[in-house]
Amino acid sequence: MRKSLVVANWKMNNGTAETSDFLNEFLKINLNPKGEVVICPPFIGLDRLKNSLSNSSIKIGAQNLYYEENGAYTGEISASMLKSVDVSYVIIGHSERREYFNETDEICNKKVKKALEYNITPILCVGEKKEDRDNGMHLDLIKSQLYESLKSLELREDEEIVVAYEPIWAIGTGETASSEDAEEICKFIRNELEDILGDSADSTRILYGGSVKPNNIDELMQMENIDGALVGGASLVPEDFARIVNYGDKNE
Ligand code: PEP
Repeated sequence: MRKSLVVANWKMNNGTAETSDFLNEFLKINLNPKGEVVICPPFIGLDRLKNSLSNSSIKIGAQNLYYEENGAYTGEISASMLKSVDVSYVIIGHSERREYFNETDEICNKKVKKALEYNITPILCVGEKKEDRDNGMHLDLIKSQLYESLKSLELREDEEIVVAYEPIWAIGTGETASSEDAEEICKFIRNELEDILGDSADSTRILYGGSVKPNNIDELMQMENIDGALVGGASLVPEDFARIVNYGDKNE
């Protein structure tokens, strides 16, 4: 049985004051998580999360890391720095990083390995653009993102990776993949992971991301190969994110 995972990706939103406001509101809500919950704030929010969540089961994630140990890499952050603020997950290869910061599969591969070296679970994002889907190229593209980003990876028994399927046309657009479409691709990903990771494929959690909202989370979470969600916009609104975390509960 795979434990579900709901991840908030705040992107470049919420400074320190807004982070405190969010936590004040969010932690007042009656939360009934079915599995793990992770919040990935901008880097300046990590320490605040560490202090506010020390008595909570909510975990801390980062939106990126750099694969070198330390040194002259202006603007970057290292795995050991993230570890010092209790980061246990890191998003790697988000489509916005691939598009605006030229993050390639080769770079993702180095980042995945560096995260694992520091006992941080990488959440590798893959997904196609609208035109890839229209051209019938989406499965080839996703396959190559998986093979290249996870190249020569040997997972120890105590290590895991998470894969997030995020169709780019569904991110921030309000247009969600239908749960059947999302399931079909997540199943495809799990089959490919069998070749790449062997036995660990079955226990690897696969998330769906792309306009996940309170009104579609329940249906998505019923799918066999969808083990959780990566949530952008809706994770900025405490009530909405709480409803997503509480998926499956009857609305009060
Ligand atoms: C994301 O940023 O990973 C994402 C899925 O965003 P949204 O939920 O806003 O579509």
